[in-house]
Amino acid sequence: MNQNINIDLKNVKNLECDECQSQTFEPAFIIKHISALMSPNGQETLMPVQLFKCTECGHINEKFLEGLTN
Ligand SMILES: [Zn+2]
Repeated sequence: MNQNINIDLKNVKNLECDECQSQTFEPAFIIKHISALMSPNGQETLMPVQLFKCTECGHINEKFLEGLTN
């Protein structure tokens, strides 16, 4: 995956945790609860959205939550 992107990764800054500056993350999910009124098929739906949390402190950077919370 993504191997077709021709970027030298050593020149790219690693994302850091906003809280502890750790550079490792693990997958986490928020679950959007879509009410029947908003759902395209008229059914209540749970929609998982993947984002990443810090492996050290569990913090989720604001960047990952952009557009997902109000
Ligand atoms: Zn952290």
